Amino acid sequence: MAESPSGAQTALDYIRSRMEKARRRFGAPPDTVELVAVSKTFPADAVEPFLRAGQRVFGENRVQEAKDKWPVLRTRYPDLKLHLIGPLQTNKAREAVALFDVIETVDRDKLAGVLAAEMARADRRLPCFVQVNIGGEAQKAGIPVAEAVDFVRRCRQTHGLEIVGLMCIPPEGQPPGTYFALLAELGRAAGVTQLSMGMSGDFETAIAMGATHVRVGSALFGRRDTSVPAAG
Ligand SMILES: *Cc1c(COP(=O)(O)O)cnc(C)c1O
Repeated sequence: MAESPSGAQTALDYIRSRMEKARRRFGAPPDTVELVAVSKTFPADAVEPFLRAGQRVFGENRVQEAKDKWPVLRTRYPDLKLHLIGPLQTNKAREAVALFDVIETVDRDKLAGVLAAEMARADRRLPCFVQVNIGGEAQKAGIPVAEAVDFVRRCRQTHGLEIVGLMCIPPEGQPPGTYFALLAELGRAAGVTQLSMGMSGDFETAIAMGATHVRVGSALFGRRDTSVPAAG
């Protein structure tokens, strides 16, 4: 007897079909957009159905939480890829390099230097994104827009990091399209091909603007406990 699809499978199918529709409708490259399933605040047993349903790329915003949750899942699903999408302190860089496969939040020279040293030490050269403070918000992480292109160059030439793309979190409560367009323009100027932009509320707009990675949390996993701090 055929099993009925799990809630995780249904949620994944729904988001993937919306992503594909957006990609086709707007006709923008790239040919495929990677879905980064943002599992922060959800325990391992809430994440596992998504692994069983075939999802392999996940995002977490805290090193400690990732450390508690992912090593066990990784033994069962060795091909999974974990993205760090939250702010990183330099004193956590060693753990981050050990736990994650992609670092999306490189945003200052000190961090770039420490990450490069830790990657060399661990012999794990992880692809990285530079996070851009696209709305120039005082409380938000990210390199300022005006410095982004030069910072990418320094990350590559001075620090020796493999910078594959740019990442941003646009200001809340404003139409995100112009911010996504600006990130795409910066990406072209910086010579990177990947753009991590778009979350549950705006991933279709992000795809229209050329996102290669969308980071979707609540639309897949449900609402998060609001006592947990949001994105930084
Ligand atoms: C939490 C988070 C997301 C996912 O947000 P949703 O609105 O739940 O999809 C995406 N990106 C970052 C950096 C986050 O911290």
